[in-house]
Amino acid sequence: LHKDVDVNCDKCENKIQQGEQYEHCGQNLCEDCYMDALSPTRICNPWLVHSAKTLQDNTSGELHLTELQSKIHQEVVKTGGVEINELRDRFGLDEAEFEKQIATLHHMEKIQAKKRDDLVMIEPGE
Ligand SMILES: [Zn+2]
Repeated sequence: LHKDVDVNCDKCENKIQQGEQYEHCGQNLCEDCYMDALSPTRICNPWLVHSAKTLQDNTSGELHLTELQSKIHQEVVKTGGVEINELRDRFGLDEAEFEKQIATLHHMEKIQAKKRDDLVMIEPGE
C-alpha cells in the first residue's frame, strides 16, 4: 500500500511512527504535536485567535455556541466520547472547518481531546 518513508514532524522534528501522522494547517505533525495543536492557545487559524480574544473580552461569562457547535457538543455528550475522524464524518465537514469548530469548543472547555490507544477521542469537558 504505502511506501515506507520516514516522515519527520514539522514541529518537534522527531520521526513520526506509522499511523501517527497528522496534518494540521499544512504541517505534518506527530500525534503529540497534533494534540498540542488542538489546544487553542497555539492555534494557527487567525479567525480563532480573534474569536478567543472576543471570548476573553466577554465579561458576562456567557459563551455563545453556534448551531453547529451546539450540535457537535450534543453529539459528544450523547455518546460520551467519539473518535475524532468519526465525529467529523458524522457532520460531513472538511478538515479545516471541523478543526475550527473543535478548537472553539475545546477553548470553551465544552470538550476535551484524549488519547485512547491509537485513537484521538473527543470527550465532553469536565
Ligand atoms: Zn511532533
